[in-house]
Amino acid sequence: SPTKKVCILGSGNWGSTAARIIGNNVLKLPDFDDSVKIWVYEEIVGRKKLTEIINTQHENVKYLPGHKLPENVVAVADAAEVVKDATHIVVVIPHQFIQNLLDTIHGNILPNAQAISLIKGIGISSQGMTTMTQIIHRTLTISVSSLSGANIANEIAEEKYCETTIGCSDPDEAIVWRSLFNTSYFQVNCVNDVIGVEFCGALKNIVAVGAGFIDGLGLGNNTKAAIIRIGFLEMRRLAMHISGAQIQDSTFMESCGMADVITTCYGGRNRRLAEEFVKTGKSMPQLEQELLNGQKLQGYLTAGEVHSYINSCGVNDHFPLFTNIYEICYQGKHPRTIFDGLNVDFSRD
Ligand code: NAD
Ligand code: 13P
Repeated sequence: SPTKKVCILGSGNWGSTAARIIGNNVLKLPDFDDSVKIWVYEEIVGRKKLTEIINTQHENVKYLPGHKLPENVVAVADAAEVVKDATHIVVVIPHQFIQNLLDTIHGNILPNAQAISLIKGIGISSQGMTTMTQIIHRTLTISVSSLSGANIANEIAEEKYCETTIGCSDPDEAIVWRSLFNTSYFQVNCVNDVIGVEFCGALKNIVAVGAGFIDGLGLGNNTKAAIIRIGFLEMRRLAMHISGAQIQDSTFMESCGMADVITTCYGGRNRRLAEEFVKTGKSMPQLEQELLNGQKLQGYLTAGEVHSYINSCGVNDHFPLFTNIYEICYQGKHPRTIFDGLNVDFSRD
């Protein structure tokens, strides 16, 4: 009989796509219970509760319309109820909501539970910058892995081939996490670098905002490639600055690194709304409200969080692109100032 049970916290665009994968995979894994509870931040869609719609139509009509969820995926509005019997907890919510959610489930999890974060974002505390796995570990005191990659959710829901990276420090646990996520069209590679994987996923969202500015300015592919190159090097420099001893350089060449920067700078929401930011002059929160139908942006928030960190360390000069993107988003600077001072030497990084 099954000794393991997986649950999912979060049912947005990526959470719902992950639920399709996991819901199908557990049916083939004898160690895992067939039922997968997914926490839904309850809202009314049409005249019905979203949980009710998911449990009757087996589709998240708001965040992943057009794709059926497996019937063993059960929507639940109470997060504490979702985690209480789970040995494997998948966390996939916009990063700005993480602490509230952890406070809700704290005290309700099994002592032998472990978690994996699919979140792309970082946190700022009095101790400096913290990754999502560190925040989850601090509150729940369980082992936490990370998953991040060149993974635009809608394309994965359409089962178009792609890769992803799991960061996990225990080889046995890595095998189990991989078995939950890997499919013929979603190829998982595991690395022993939890923090490196999630730094890549969080920081590339700032680069995506820069790429969107380039599109909004009507500049070309060469210009965007320059932003991608410099952005990638600033990502690596910052991750190394914060946690160098814990991060492997090779992680940046995994799907979570270079590949995710590319896909997000061409196909992501952060890119799209940054283009609109330039064209309309509207703020990021206003565009999010008007254009995303409840989905959330991470990039401009991460630009603000990273800026507060590099500013407090006095190292702005080492991160001109991140600094310029912050100033364009928050201080009314013209998007053309994105090019100011970009001639940085990365050759000794
Ligand atoms: P989303 O942006 O599509 O949807 C937003 C979600 O937040 C909805 O489920 C909504 O119900 C929920 N929400 C709204 N207010 C809330 C609150 N106060 N508290 C808690 N939840 C609330 O979500 P997503 O795309 O699944 O993103 C989750 C994470 O996954 C993000 O960090 C994102 O960067 C990452 N990610 C997304 C994609 C993608 O293509 N969508 C791919 C990879 C990683
Ligand atoms: P956006 O949030 O910009 O859509 O990026 C999705 C993503 O992380 C692709 O890997």
